[in-house]
Amino acid sequence: MFLTISGLAKSFGDNKVLKDINLELDKGEVLSIIGPSGSGKTTLLRCFNGLETPDKGRMSFENGLTIDFGEKASKQSIDTMRKKSAMVFQSYNLFPHKTVLENVIEGPVIVQKEKRANAVERAEALLEKVGLKEKKDFYPHQLSGGQQQRVGIARALALKPELMLFDEPTSALDPELIGEVLTVMKDLAKEKWTMIMVTHEIQFAGEISDQIVFMDGGYIVEHGPPQEVLKAPKQERTKQFLQRIL
Ligand code: ADP
Repeated sequence: MFLTISGLAKSFGDNKVLKDINLELDKGEVLSIIGPSGSGKTTLLRCFNGLETPDKGRMSFENGLTIDFGEKASKQSIDTMRKKSAMVFQSYNLFPHKTVLENVIEGPVIVQKEKRANAVERAEALLEKVGLKEKKDFYPHQLSGGQQQRVGIARALALKPELMLFDEPTSALDPELIGEVLTVMKDLAKEKWTMIMVTHEIQFAGEISDQIVFMDGGYIVEHGPPQEVLKAPKQERTKQFLQRIL
């Protein structure tokens, strides 16, 4: 198992946002987290790369990294965990004053200390993969939202993560630009990248995911393959949510 999570919990003050979260993810699997607004989806995703730190629970990665959250969790192991993943944000989060190419090489060169020439070569290949090689010297504001998000994906891939995290990657996009981003994500799933995404694109999630997690009120209410959770949900809350949005 690539990642095993047990008993994960997180509060903001008195607000218990994640309650007893248990999950398993194999290498090469795609897991989608769906559920109503405020159910804790984004907070859970952010726990995977250390943008939020759970209050308790255990996260174990293959190769032996295990973190028991709480006061005794070691900062060093949280840092090691952080380096395993890369996040694609809803709002792209590109550096506005840097070109597309500079955005993509920033992490490898500054954080990972990769040689610039090497990082540029890889970045160009990644930009080609997302269909934007000819835009490498453009600035983010010269691109459409869909193009910016594809740069966001190339930038995350440039970190050579073991796990790709997507936080509602298409929800800021005009409808006609969503498809180009979903196509790139579908390609990554075919290439067997390990991916966790929070999404409102339920049909898309059903097509590419191995597992769907339905969250409500900080709990995982239902969890399984798309044909079960989306097509034959067992829980009333899942049924109601799907009826509302489909
Ligand atoms: P979802 O992604 O399902 O919409 P979130 O994980 O964003 O849900 O939020 C779950 C709950 O946690 C909400 O009540 C939200 O207000 C609260 N929350 C999220 N982030 C923070 C934060 N940094 N500080 C305080 N409360 C937060």
